[in-house]
Amino acid sequence: MAHFVCRCGYDMWNGESPNDIEFWVYSDKTLDALSSEDSIPFLSLCNKDDYNVWRCPKCKRLYVFDEKGGVEPKYVYKPEDRE
Ligand SMILES: [Zn+2]
Repeated sequence: MAHFVCRCGYDMWNGESPNDIEFWVYSDKTLDALSSEDSIPFLSLCNKDDYNVWRCPKCKRLYVFDEKGGVEPKYVYKPEDRE
C-alpha cells in the first residue's frame, strides 16, 4: 500500500483492493509469453508487469513507474484539452 500525491494535489492511495487508481501494463511480447501457459496465476502476472501506472481520478494524469517498488515515476502524462 502506498500514497502518491498528484501534481494537482489529489492524494492517491492504492490500499483498497480492487481500486481505480492502479493499473498494470504488459507489453504484447510479455502477454504472448504468458499466453503459452495453460493458466495464468495472479501472482505470475504481478511478477511480469512491464509498467505500473497510477491514474489520478481528479485530473486524469497518468504516472508510469517502470521499476517495482520505485517511488518516482519514469513518465507523467497529462490529458490535452479536447475543446
Ligand atoms: Zn491529479
